[in-house]
Amino acid sequence: MGGITCKFGGTSLADAKAFRAVADIVKSNPERRFIVPSAPGKRKPDDKKITDLLYAWHGLVKQDLDPIQPRTIIAKRFEELAKELNIEFNVQEHLEHIANEAANYAEPDYLASRGEYLSGQILSRLIGATFVDPAQCILFEDDGDLDPQTYDLLGDKLKGPGLFVVPGFYGSLPNGRIKTFSRGGSDVTGSIVARASKSSLYENWTDVSGFLVADPRIVPDARGIGEVTYRELRELSYMGANVLHDEAIFPVREPGIPINIRNTKKPEHPGTMIVAERHSKEPIVGIAGRKGFTMINIEKALMNKERGFGRRVLSVLEDFGVSWELMPSGIDNMSIIIEDEELQNHTSAIIKSIRRTCQPDKVSVTPDLALIATVGQGMAGTVGVAARLTTALANASVNIRVLDQGSSENNIIVGVGEGDLENAVRAIYHAFTE
Ligand code: ASP
Repeated sequence: MGGITCKFGGTSLADAKAFRAVADIVKSNPERRFIVPSAPGKRKPDDKKITDLLYAWHGLVKQDLDPIQPRTIIAKRFEELAKELNIEFNVQEHLEHIANEAANYAEPDYLASRGEYLSGQILSRLIGATFVDPAQCILFEDDGDLDPQTYDLLGDKLKGPGLFVVPGFYGSLPNGRIKTFSRGGSDVTGSIVARASKSSLYENWTDVSGFLVADPRIVPDARGIGEVTYRELRELSYMGANVLHDEAIFPVREPGIPINIRNTKKPEHPGTMIVAERHSKEPIVGIAGRKGFTMINIEKALMNKERGFGRRVLSVLEDFGVSWELMPSGIDNMSIIIEDEELQNHTSAIIKSIRRTCQPDKVSVTPDLALIATVGQGMAGTVGVAARLTTALANASVNIRVLDQGSSENNIIVGVGEGDLENAVRAIYHAFTE
């Protein structure tokens, strides 16, 4: 089919002016045909997001309380939008219907999805597009996975000339009930629409001009990333670079549809291209880091000779329902890095259990660890990348607690004390960009 899928985030649809800017972007390129809106976001920092108000509405109903407050704010926001955009739209009638329907739902999904629904209703009127309700064609299986039939069903609805609006964030279960993706899930809808419509490009319009090589709160003048591969982006977003929903890559990765992150406030900026193969040759595309990890260190003489040692350690974690992130190891020692959120307050129980089942010589715990991933597909063939990185950290007096270069050579992960995170990111950034 061709054409471009454009997803617009909540800040790009916060008020009437933003809706008009979106209409201008769509109209400025006839290839832009499949439009996926989020629910209106915040107009200013102390404002409320429509989706948050809808969750609040659900919470009140669940406790048998009157949801009048969130409902009134929502009504006012959409009424203002319709009025300022000169669109015939009976907000009260829609909200009445939504309130009645919501009574059939114990879970928040139906109400939460209505922000996108209403936003899509208004946008489709504004730009003269066909409204396609994802309840009919974005289907989940009972376990919450996407039903692959979605692509054909949705693809059929997107055939024919003109513009189409498909609200983000939701679809339906086999029993017909509405289900949402996790928060920020309109990005996933955009990706599904791009694939179903066989778009040549998925433009994801947000309020930043793409990804930066490092977090601007740490490196204020961080450069933008022009091009990044799907794989590199996975590593960066796992480590905290969150411009795009984690799951948004999968639907487009297989057919190889590139994603272009763009800024509605600076539509002329080319943003970041997410592609299967990068043309740019820099070994490093980005640096991202996160606090909140703990490392469990286990030592035992002749660990390498003892069959099943690693399995026994990991089965302890499994018994506690804890997943791990990294496992750097030596001949007589292994370390396991775990996210604090996963560990909760199980640390001492886990240590006890490891002592009992594995009889190590020593077990110790390194808390308050930050992990920093330096990511780049080109690292594989480049000599000296690790040396440059460790030298930069040494010069910045950062003590490296752990260092791990995955065999795919896509990234080098260093673990440092949480207090060193910012300093370390700045040091690595300058080592590779100057
Ligand atoms: N409106 C939803 C949220 O706030 C989905 C989205 O914006 O992508 O999470």
